[in-house]
Amino acid sequence: MIINAHHIPNGTVLRADVCVVGGGPAGIALTLSLADHGLTVVLLESGHLTADTATQALYNGEVTDERLHSPPDKYRHRLLGGSSAIWGGRCMPFDPLDFETRSHVPFSGWPLTYDDLLPYYPAANALAEAGRFSYSAPQALGPNVKPLIKGFASDRVSTQGLERFSCPTHFGQRYAHRLQCAQGVQLLLGANCTALQLHTDAQSIRALQVSTLQGTRFSVVPRATVLATGGLETARLLLASRDISPEGVGNQHDVVGRYYMCHIAGNVGTLTVKGTPSQVRHGYERSPEGIYCRRRLQVSAREQRRLGLANAVARLHFARITDPGHRSGVLSGLFLARKLISYEYSKRLNDGEASAATYARHLLNVATDPLHTAAFLGHWLTQRTLAERKFPSVILRNRTNRFSLEVHSEQIPQAASRVMLNERRDALGMPMLRVDWRYSQADIDSVRGTLDVIAEEFEASGVAKFEYQREQLEEDLLRFGAYGGHHLGTARMGSDPRTSVVNADCQLHSVRNLFVAGSAVFPTSSQANPTLTLIALSLRLADTLASRLIGRAALHLSTQLASEPLLATGAIL
Ligand SMILES: Cc1cc2nc3c(=O)[nH]c(=O)nc-3n(C[C@H](O)[C@H](O)[C@H](O)COP(=O)(O)OP(=O)(O)OC[C@H]3O[C@@H](n4cnc5c(N)ncnc54)[C@H](O)[C@@H]3O)c2cc1C
Repeated sequence: MIINAHHIPNGTVLRADVCVVGGGPAGIALTLSLADHGLTVVLLESGHLTADTATQALYNGEVTDERLHSPPDKYRHRLLGGSSAIWGGRCMPFDPLDFETRSHVPFSGWPLTYDDLLPYYPAANALAEAGRFSYSAPQALGPNVKPLIKGFASDRVSTQGLERFSCPTHFGQRYAHRLQCAQGVQLLLGANCTALQLHTDAQSIRALQVSTLQGTRFSVVPRATVLATGGLETARLLLASRDISPEGVGNQHDVVGRYYMCHIAGNVGTLTVKGTPSQVRHGYERSPEGIYCRRRLQVSAREQRRLGLANAVARLHFARITDPGHRSGVLSGLFLARKLISYEYSKRLNDGEASAATYARHLLNVATDPLHTAAFLGHWLTQRTLAERKFPSVILRNRTNRFSLEVHSEQIPQAASRVMLNERRDALGMPMLRVDWRYSQADIDSVRGTLDVIAEEFEASGVAKFEYQREQLEEDLLRFGAYGGHHLGTARMGSDPRTSVVNADCQLHSVRNLFVAGSAVFPTSSQANPTLTLIALSLRLADTLASRLIGRAALHLSTQLASEPLLATGAIL
């Protein structure tokens, strides 16, 4: 059932087995799985089926340094489906080594292993519409698959790893109907959770306060609560709920909001491949089920451990778009049209003030490259704009066999990188966020180490040469600040409450019926984009909740609750 929260009478108390706060990929995956288990769910979603300015403004906040991190209302979407409304759809699981304690990565080590999560990845892949859970080129693309670069084979650098692409699936649009029909699910739109109320012993949640922008106020009294509000907002909700614990919920050790990570990313150097362009596969290949896949370079786990490197990947990329020296009409066209592209997808095209001469050279590129530009536009229209499964990104046939490497690296966790509350309040009276994202020299040094291994291996192979300016690396990686959209670690998972907020079951150490679903719980960030893993964790959490709530003489209770009307007015408890 889908209800506009505005129509719920003031003072209503809703009851359910589980209240899920947030209807992005994590909250939707969790809710559907809980419903399959027979549990009743109230899903509170701040937004509606489409985006609106007033709701999006609830994400406003501050950043300490806008050169390092985008404002908090960017790279986040507040509507049913969350940021999947604009995500790129790149999917891949974490690597087994991401879960290990690595002496060269401070605060690393998850309280669960890759094998604990593995059973949930295929279902996560299916929800993301990314096809089979198969992330090695020979398995996914067939045994006769051509190498990434002909003649390049290395024990130290793998080229067999794949990323697979979702449609990209907008979880709100794709799953609204299933949520509408799911037995025992009440999805409330326009429902903003503004506070978590604890019992006086601070060990369990008593109720959740909910407000709409039209002024309706009501509460939810669930048996268990899951925050699925995204990596930044989860910390905000915990910190802002201060009625019993002035430091915020679950924050006795001042960990909530700390260890905030994004990814370290940028385009670096020049890879020159000998021979013809047909020897290189730098774009997308399609798996037999029609999924777009792309290969990457990755230093082996053994070498990462031996050299003390954080986990990172590199993809073959085209030259810097902003520099008209590439002489590509398509890239110049993108540069000239960047003001028409959304903030999130044009940020990396805004590379300082371009001079009039630079504009003139870009225009010249477009004028002198009309055939490629027209062919590209035709391809984009048919394979991207009009296609249901969209061609994932701009890829150009590379006629020179020269590429840059697009690096995507794990960020090493540090307590000083954090999100906090600030003095300003939003339209519902909640304190806004202040984001103080920090990186360290160790992050840059690790990427340098990774690039050096890749350069050595290309040199040894004799088929390619990779060169980059070592002293310019930090500038290249930080040119556009933290990689947007990946908000990780603000309610990290661990065994020690002094350095973590939730345990291996995603349950707050200090609050027995409060859980977190989403990338806030990641203690380390991996090379991988976060969404597939946060969906897998959400599905695992659904099983945990089902076994706890149904296991503890609750099967009977949850059946009863399911058959009772969920909407009941009256006092709390
Ligand atoms: C431009 C862009 C590209 C991206 N590309 C990729 C990619 O290629 N691959 C990848 O893995 N990831 C990508 N991401 C990241 C991906 O979008 C997120 O990892 C994913 O959306 C997180 O899902 P979530 O459900 O945890 O949080 P969100 O998607 O942020 O959803 C949170 C939900 O909670 C709701 N909410 C917030 N506060 C409240 C409240 N107080 N009360 C009620 N509801 C609330 C919001 O409205 C929202 O619907 C990208 C992100 C962006 C912005």
